Amino acid sequence: MANRIAKLRSKLAAEGIDGLLVTRPENIRYLCGYTGSNGILLVTRRNARFYTDFRYAEQAKTEVRNCRTTVLKRWLYNALPLEHFRGASRVGVEAGHLTLQLSAALRKRLKGVRLVPVKRDLALELRRTKEPAEVQAISRAQRVTERALAEVLKFVRPGVTELDLAAELTARFARVGDNAFPPIVASGPNGAKPHAAPSSRRLRKGDAVTFDIGCRVDGYCSDMTRTVFLGRPDPDLEQVYHIVAEAQRRGLAAVRPGVTGSEVDRAAREYITDQGYGPQFGHGLGHGVGLAVHELPGLAEPVRDKLKPGDVVTVEPGIYIPGLGGVRIEDMVLVTKTGCRNLTRAPKKLTRL
Ligand code: ZN
Ligand code: ZN
Repeated sequence: MANRIAKLRSKLAAEGIDGLLVTRPENIRYLCGYTGSNGILLVTRRNARFYTDFRYAEQAKTEVRNCRTTVLKRWLYNALPLEHFRGASRVGVEAGHLTLQLSAALRKRLKGVRLVPVKRDLALELRRTKEPAEVQAISRAQRVTERALAEVLKFVRPGVTELDLAAELTARFARVGDNAFPPIVASGPNGAKPHAAPSSRRLRKGDAVTFDIGCRVDGYCSDMTRTVFLGRPDPDLEQVYHIVAEAQRRGLAAVRPGVTGSEVDRAAREYITDQGYGPQFGHGLGHGVGLAVHELPGLAEPVRDKLKPGDVVTVEPGIYIPGLGGVRIEDMVLVTKTGCRNLTRAPKKLTRL
């Protein structure tokens, strides 16, 4: 973690700043280990300071590494000690996270310090390259997700609701951590909505049921999608399933260091377009996963960023047909020196329950 703060420091000069106020919780956790809420981390060229309030003082003692902790009153943004900013006249703030209200409070409090909104998320850029222990945490979360899905598929039958199935998944994730995001369980026509919220719709024979689920273990997320069929699938959706599966194979095969996010996206998208379903695949192919479920790098047009070893990304093509339903298949892979390693083990063969 000391190394992470040093890496962040090395990025300050290029942004024309002497320090950075880190406020995004995942970034704070990544840089100094603190997992609670109401924290701010100040990293300057010489110092690193963590601020929190009384409620988290004990937690900070055991968790915070490589910087000093100062306990302030609860409203941290009005209480940051000006003297800790000595020697740092231009201090960056995370423009993508800080609200206008908090930013105004900081400006009032830190008179004489020039606060510079930094559009790039510098800590997020560091986070994209996973260390082995981080890959292990993501894999652990993925194993839990797979076990939960295998168990919950046993409940898939006519009459059960999407909410019933989502509750079963959430209960399993709660035993080891938490949902990484609210589970998506989308049956029948609801499957045509890529981010459908589970509803009280009762499953029927012939439905395609899409599960997009992930849990969070030790802070790290997993993300996986599978579509299964209840009984005999609609012939069109069965064909769509095979098209999505082939598009995903092509996307996975394109993942290696040096290719851009848009090139990987194109590898899958071209196949879907050739099969006549281009307009029905209206989202990007994938995204990075780590402490947040959506992080860098993106696999989508127009991402020119090149993949690097240590990136963990999803590959998740889908086809959505209003009124009929949808199919999406999503795996998480680790970019290696020569290609990628799939972190997802759940079966992808067309499943009829
Ligand atoms: Zn997902
Ligand atoms: Zn995803």
